Amino acid sequence: MPIYKAPVESVLFLLRDVLGYERYSNLAGFSDAPLDTVAAILEEAAKFSEDVLQPLNRVGDTEGCRRNEDGSVTTPTGFKQAYKTFSEAGWIGLSADPKHGGQGLPYALAAAVNEFTTSANMAFGMYPGLAQGAIAAIEQHGSAEQQAIYLPKLVSGAWLGTMNLTEPQCGTDLGLIKTKAVPADEGTYRITGQKIFISAGEHDLSENIVHLVLARIEGAPEGTKGISLFIVPKLLPDAEGNAGARNAVSCGSIEKKMGIHGNATCVMNYDGATGFLVGEREKGLRAMFTMMNEARLGVGVQGLALSEVAYQNAALYARERRQGRSISGAKEPDQTADPIIVHPDVRRMLMSIRAFNEAARAFMLWVALKGDAAHRCEDDKERVAADDQMGLMTPVLKGVLTDTGFSNAVQAQQVFGGHGYIAEHGMEQFVRDARIAMIYEGANGIQALDLVGRKLPKDGGRAVMAFFNEVGAFVKENEADAALEPYITPLKAGLDHLQQATMWFMQNAMAKPDNAGAGSTDYMHLFGLVALGYMWSRIAKAANEKLKDGANGDAAFYETRLTLGRYFMERTMPETAAHLARISSGADAMMAMKAEAF
Ligand SMILES: Cc1cc2nc3c(=O)[nH]c(=O)nc-3n(C[C@H](O)[C@H](O)[C@H](O)COP(=O)(O)OP(=O)(O)OC[C@H]3O[C@@H](n4cnc5c(N)ncnc54)[C@H](O)[C@@H]3O)c2cc1C
Repeated sequence: MPIYKAPVESVLFLLRDVLGYERYSNLAGFSDAPLDTVAAILEEAAKFSEDVLQPLNRVGDTEGCRRNEDGSVTTPTGFKQAYKTFSEAGWIGLSADPKHGGQGLPYALAAAVNEFTTSANMAFGMYPGLAQGAIAAIEQHGSAEQQAIYLPKLVSGAWLGTMNLTEPQCGTDLGLIKTKAVPADEGTYRITGQKIFISAGEHDLSENIVHLVLARIEGAPEGTKGISLFIVPKLLPDAEGNAGARNAVSCGSIEKKMGIHGNATCVMNYDGATGFLVGEREKGLRAMFTMMNEARLGVGVQGLALSEVAYQNAALYARERRQGRSISGAKEPDQTADPIIVHPDVRRMLMSIRAFNEAARAFMLWVALKGDAAHRCEDDKERVAADDQMGLMTPVLKGVLTDTGFSNAVQAQQVFGGHGYIAEHGMEQFVRDARIAMIYEGANGIQALDLVGRKLPKDGGRAVMAFFNEVGAFVKENEADAALEPYITPLKAGLDHLQQATMWFMQNAMAKPDNAGAGSTDYMHLFGLVALGYMWSRIAKAANEKLKDGANGDAAFYETRLTLGRYFMERTMPETAAHLARISSGADAMMAMKAEAF
């Protein structure tokens, strides 16, 4: 049976010593969550994830969700009780606005909790995760009346949410949406159409489900310009705002799929269902993007979460499994063989994963703190700067953490040899579950295009320049410190490669856009490496300072971080050069072949 231990100490170290959590104490909600409170909350989340959610992970995978004849959907054994406990404990509204019943605590704390729940049980974590996205969209774009009806129910977890974009003919290209909205009584709309692949579209966890649906109002222009966003509740709220009459929306079927079996992926049929317009008509994409951005960060966390749990199991196995002898001489000669942890190639796999996980967690928390500042800072300049960084980093976080998270799950499976391929150890489930995160919330190729085509040029490159300046200033400030040299030198080289790649796009992509498309995935990964290298440099600086101060008996903790960081800088950072070489080779060879030659 797989194990999971939530990395509470790692999160606390990153928040406290690396990311300067206490500097944010002027933001709303932070004074209610000093570090000892954060520690207590993380411990509680860890306990719930380890004791309740993790044991249900396998159950969810083997049982899956079941659609009943009446269209209702039954979730796997134990999910309903776990959800009841989870929502009653207030986890969904952890960072939501207190005026809607939330606890108003930092979003960074909620992101850390999401990592724990997702490592323990990704399929389960998606149900509340989607509700958090719906809360964000309604908070930002819903009317006062919609906020009053829906937010308290979503925040308390009494109702859950979904996002409905995809249709059979419409995936990435939302301009192809056909679902129709016809104006009806009292400002409502009749929604008709079919949505596919809707996560948590139907289930038995909450008393109501709030679908956020993209549709085209009759007569609206073709393409993305004509799309509006609607709330379509499964049960229509009555005069008191409680779940009332059944709406004309139903689950037609649920998909059989590769992983996340515990989460129902539904075909949703809208047969003249009553919908309520969110925000302005034909501005639906903007509103849905609030939900998607929230969800993209959540999906990035899924990549890290699965990489972490897969690593933990592989590390345990590598210490126990005995095969062969160390090439530098037997390490345990009195045993029949050495544990496989002695073999450099097994260490290569484990250290690559662990070195990624630690920096990815720092990156995720850093972006989440930017999110807190973007939403809660009273100083306009700081708020805008934080929002810039969050926008810039969202596709990087989503794309890089999920691509690498999946390949790490495969590497962790490799540590098990043939036993990783056998269901009993749980490794093949991690691989299957991790795969979807690269696809949904915008396939990773689309994240890369968003980064290169939209986020880089936005506001004349203001966000990317701010990032370059921040990393450049850190390099300058620390390059004379001999203890940091192993970190700063590769970071400086990586930043240089990233700046060269950015310049190359500026010079070569305007006249020939295929050059941007051809290099975008490499650029996203190059960007991610620099961001992770920057995180490692900051971690190393903090760890060195801790060791200098005596480390309170925790020297091993900080030394492990210094070693992992060195490994990352020596072994992973050099990939920035290969990305730059690929980007600057342009699109010619890629576009030379005629489509029929493929
Ligand atoms: C398990 C699961 C759960 C899901 N949950 C939800 C949900 O809750 N709500 C929802 O609305 N949807 C959901 N989806 C749908 C998911 O978001 C889409 O599958 C995804 O957006 C891609 O759309 P598509 O499958 O139609 O692929 P396509 O859009 O057909 O893309 C196919 C390939 O072409 C590439 N591509 C497409 N256009 C371009 C372009 N312009 N430039 C470069 N490359 C391009 C893509 O990157 C991809 O690799 C879910 C899907 C699955 C499998």
